[in-house]
Amino acid sequence: MTVSIPFDYHMHSTNSCDCRTPMAEMCREAIRKGIPEIAFTEHLDRQPGDYCYDRYDPEQFFRDIEACRAEFGPQGLTIKAGIEVGEMHLFRAEVEPILNSYPYDLVLGSLHWNQGESIFERDYFLKREPQDVARDYFTELAELVNGGGFNIMSHMDVFKRVGYSVHKRFDITEWEEYVRPIFAACIRQGIAPEINTSALRMPIRQTHPTVEAIRWYREMGGELLSIGSDSHTPHDLGFGLEQAIAIAKEAGFTHLTRFAGRKVVDFVPI
Ligand SMILES: [Zn+2]
Ligand SMILES: [Zn+2]
Repeated sequence: MTVSIPFDYHMHSTNSCDCRTPMAEMCREAIRKGIPEIAFTEHLDRQPGDYCYDRYDPEQFFRDIEACRAEFGPQGLTIKAGIEVGEMHLFRAEVEPILNSYPYDLVLGSLHWNQGESIFERDYFLKREPQDVARDYFTELAELVNGGGFNIMSHMDVFKRVGYSVHKRFDITEWEEYVRPIFAACIRQGIAPEINTSALRMPIRQTHPTVEAIRWYREMGGELLSIGSDSHTPHDLGFGLEQAIAIAKEAGFTHLTRFAGRKVVDFVPI
């Protein structure tokens, strides 16, 4: 039996500095794959050293969203206006005016930098012990989530993408005492953790995070949950989301959370 995928809430288009796929191509691919709802979550980065620093244009983004809604809405595709904000806890004063000036449906909160350094650089890992990387990353992620202001906590252990290639291992079960307070903050703030499938396409071949962590979150009373492919190409759109849904179910979830207007609108059964 094929699993139906209700939505993919993490993808990029030419509105992200690291993506060359036009929005319309992603929309066509979603229709082709039978995914009825997608969210474009373009990078908004205010970290001065970031590759995407100052390269986000909300006017262009919403022009593209409106054009795609007009073209693909009649074909049954729901297109949500999302955004992936880097390090919101550090750049709130610059980010909030943008979020409040446009009709976003959902905001992803991401931590791509730790202690002023990019966690996508091998150097970051080469000069640190694996245990220091995880401890420092999760400590700052807790700060980010405690500050709130977004709907979905994306890829909560994204540092393992490059960390694994340097340190050769990562197992989230060693980090329970750091991860549970992050989920407690999610529950307090009404933030949905995301099961992000991008690292299934990388040597580590794990979701962000793995099932053990989602199970802790569920045991703690977590109810909101999102899934996303973090795709930058049509090929990756929806990639691994059957597996993300299987993980959600295994952890005890029966529903995923839909957002609109930066609020929970309903729960879709899985
Ligand atoms: Zn990201
Ligand atoms: Zn992303």
